[in-house]
Amino acid sequence: MKNIFDFTMKELENFVEPKFRAKQIYEWIYKKNVDDFAQMLNLPKEIRQSLAQNFYLDPLKCVRSETSSDGSIKYLFALKDGKTIESVLLPMKDELRDENEKIIRHARYSICVSSQVGCKIGCSFCLTAKGGFVRNLTPGEIVAQIWLIKKMNAIPYERRVNVVYMGMGEPLNNLDNVAKAVQILKENDGLAIAPRRQTISTSGLSTQIKKLGEMDLGVLLAISLHAVDDELREKLMPINRAYNIASIMQAVREFPIDLRKRVMFEYLMIDGVNDRPSDAKTLVKLLHGIRAKVNLIYFNPHEGSSFGRPSPENMIKFQDYLCAHGITCTIRQSKGLDISAACGQLKQRNEQGKILAQSSISADKISNK
Ligand code: SAH
Ligand code: SF4
Repeated sequence: MKNIFDFTMKELENFVEPKFRAKQIYEWIYKKNVDDFAQMLNLPKEIRQSLAQNFYLDPLKCVRSETSSDGSIKYLFALKDGKTIESVLLPMKDELRDENEKIIRHARYSICVSSQVGCKIGCSFCLTAKGGFVRNLTPGEIVAQIWLIKKMNAIPYERRVNVVYMGMGEPLNNLDNVAKAVQILKENDGLAIAPRRQTISTSGLSTQIKKLGEMDLGVLLAISLHAVDDELREKLMPINRAYNIASIMQAVREFPIDLRKRVMFEYLMIDGVNDRPSDAKTLVKLLHGIRAKVNLIYFNPHEGSSFGRPSPENMIKFQDYLCAHGITCTIRQSKGLDISAACGQLKQRNEQGKILAQSSISADKISNK
């Protein structure tokens, strides 16, 4: 049996006669959210039966979900082999209506997806790293995270969402499958999410950044920098021994990016570790000549780490310094902090069996259907 979400439209055309049936199937799945071949009523019965014998439409099952006070919802999904991954729905902007109740701006969402079960990179601050690497996700397992979240939240088909590959795993260690997911998500008769609405976040695998650039997919790039000198970065992210800061900056400079867009640098602020004024100063120098924007992230404390969350004053000082030196810098408002925001935390708590004690759980209210 094959996961239908693994297939581009062209590939699906090889399985059905005549070819236009592939477009119909795509529309049933992605536009009408149908998750049963029997419901695809404009297809002849034999095709529906043959599809059901060869493909499945349920690569993910929702095991848990937690809703944060800020409206973000974190999901724990089980894959066919029972392994679990996390994805998050992040409401970015609320709907706006005029005095006649006419919608003048639709709500905007970002969906944060996982690209692997576990991760090989082993960053010291990250819970995903603690469980080690298990396996790569297939393109369809990535695509289905977005499809299922849109479906479960009844987000209308026309409402475009942004996708960020910032969940569990290192996307550039699973580059071929991530690149294929980008293509499937882009399909006009599918979810139609343009690559410029998809951001791939990496711990800085310079050679893979180069490869991604050569693929010229049109995606946006985010670099998880987190430290400005190699010594500290090696302690936080051992991958820095193989790919140091200079090599990452070089790869970023060569990365093809739309002139209206910027490369995002994520900077996890850890109390007393990398949040000093001297760090801000070095960061400004590092980014010289790069169309960059910096996103400062509060470290989210967890049991697996002795690091602490910085004070808001320190965050603002750091931000002010960057802004004063011409660098666009935002502070990521800790979406979902109260629901164990950083990836890996819901999974861990689920495994520890603690989760049922939480009051914010709404999994029982949500089913995949
Ligand atoms: N592996 C890729 C993809 C995203 S990793 C990368 O590292 O870029 C998941 C994201 O969660 C990263 O941006 C990481 O910095 C962040 N993260 C990990 N642990 C965190 C924590 N304890 N608090 C806040 N953010 C964390
Ligand atoms: Fe992997 Fe990213 Fe976590 Fe580092 S921060 S261990 S690269 S998921």
